[in-house]
Order: sequence, then C-alpha cells, then structure tokens
Amino acid sequence: MLTRETRTRETAGNATYEPVGSDTHDENRNDRRGTETCSKRRPRRDQVSPFEGTGVPRPLMLVYTAEMLRIPAIIASTACALGLLCPALAAAAAQDVSALDALVRAYPDHLVPTERPNTVLWKDGTEMVFDDGVPKTGFEDLLNRASLKDQMAMRYPRSWPSAAPLVNADPGRVRNDAFFRKMYGSSADAVRGNLVPVEWLGGTSVPFTKVNGAAEALCRVREELKTLPADVQQYVAQPVGTFAWRPIAGTTRLSMHSFGAAIDFQLPRALHRYWKWDTRPPNDAPVYPVSILQDGRLRQVVEVFERHGFIWGGKWFHYDTMHFEYRPELPG
Ligand SMILES: [Zn+2]
Repeated sequence: MLTRETRTRETAGNATYEPVGSDTHDENRNDRRGTETCSKRRPRRDQVSPFEGTGVPRPLMLVYTAEMLRIPAIIASTACALGLLCPALAAAAAQDVSALDALVRAYPDHLVPTERPNTVLWKDGTEMVFDDGVPKTGFEDLLNRASLKDQMAMRYPRSWPSAAPLVNADPGRVRNDAFFRKMYGSSADAVRGNLVPVEWLGGTSVPFTKVNGAAEALCRVREELKTLPADVQQYVAQPVGTFAWRPIAGTTRLSMHSFGAAIDFQLPRALHRYWKWDTRPPNDAPVYPVSILQDGRLRQVVEVFERHGFIWGGKWFHYDTMHFEYRPELPG
C-alpha cells in the first residue's frame, strides 16, 4: 500500500501529492520496451617637476605639478583597480570555461567541443548560449529562467554533509529547461521512445532513459548495491517512481522524472523526508532533518549512486531524500 510519502512524484520544489495509482506507476508498467544495456607597478609621487630651474613662473609650475600629481594618481588608481579586477575577471572567465567543458564532457552523445565562446554546441549543429547574461531577481526567478551557466553554478558536494545545507543551496535543482527537453525529449511520447527497462533489486523492473547512458549507469548502481549488505540494499529495494511527464505544479518546469532520468525510493520512514512536509510558519521555511546524516547505511547507498553520475535530493536545502537523478555534469 502506498503511504502518504509515496504519493508525491515530484522532485523538490513545488511537489504535489498524487492519488494512489497515479500515472507514474502506470508508466512503469507500460514502458518496458527496448533492451536494457548494462555494460602591476605603483608610480612615484615624489618626482621633481621637469620645469624646475627652467624659468617657468612658479604659479604655472605649481599648476603643472599639481596636474602631474593628479594624472599619475588617476593612472595609479586605474592600474590598481585593474590589478585587482583583472585576476578576478580572468578567474571568473576560467571558471565559466571549466563549467562549460564539464557540461560537454558529461553528455558526449549530444554535445561537441567548440572554440566558439559562450556556446554549447550540439552534434546536430544546434547552438545554445551558455551564459545568457540575464540577472535573476531571486531564487524562484533563477529556477524559472536558469541559463546553462546558472545550471552549472552551484556545485554539488561530493563529501557527506555534516550539517544542514545553506539556505537555497540546492545543487541540481537549477536546470535549463530547453537543454533537457532537447536532450531527452520534448514530449511524453518522445521521452517514452527512449525508455528501457532496468532490472532492479529483487527482480522488479523500472523504465529509465537510455539517453546518455543513464540506464546503463543505473545498472551499474544496481550491481554495486548488490555488493553491499542486505540491510543496506533494503533501503532502496522499493522503487516508487521513475518516469512521469508533467510540469512541476504551479510552474512550467519539468522535473527530471519527466525525462525518465530520476528515480524515487521508499526509504525507511525516519529517513523518508520531503521539505514541504516539514515547513514551519511564519515563513514556511523547511527544517532540515539533520539526524538523517547520522545514518551510515543511507550514506553508503547515496555514495554508490554518486559514483555513477547521480545526485541525491537529500543534499538540497529543499530536501527530497527519496530522490536520485542522473546529472553527470554535477558530481565530481
Ligand atoms: Zn523524485
């Protein structure tokens, strides 16, 4: 029987509860097709005026001297500013290039390297702007209008956390919608066409996208989980949803479930936590369940997924502990 927790099918954000027997589970039954494959310098200000001893009237000399002092000061301040800014700008530019490279490397089936700056080039010739240069007015605006640069900006922590995430630290929730629609499919049918069944622990089967080797990565997760003690495997023995094409409630954004690239599990009750279940007035801020970070078995499970390109929703400020999604551009 599905619990209250298993009825939510959305990733963190604006999840809603779904009726039992929702399309998630129907999709699981109906999309078992295809074949699973697993395999600077400072100027001196004490310089003598060149007019000294030349007969130039003193007042003029003073004016000149004053100008001489002012100009180097301007030059100095400008140079100083450049001295401070240039390295920072260079570092920021290098960071952008690094992030763009990481994105391209993560999706070799679709993206190819290009010398064109600020460009993500697809194999079919499509170009996407990496940094749209559009300032976002707040966190919701960032979620709604994320550029590819925004998508890569928040680093996913590989280490196991010892404390709750900082406010709005949701690495992975910031997604560029157009990017993933093009990657995995821009309609339910298009995504379905890429789903393959992946055998899961205990002999069940879940549909997962074969795009980018996501299904193969899930296979590798399964195989590594099998090497862990049974009581650890038990944590993720019950998948409760993968593919579900639908915008996040109240938004036009699609979660990674829409692309068949995310999977939820029924975790032990104390660990099965979702931020919207724990919000508190007056500001409805979530209260991160720090105690879950003490669970060694959960940590083992999460680390297996991360080794194969998945991220875990439990590392988000807007936590979703049952949720794992394939985001090979983020871990590392
Ligand atoms: Zn989920």
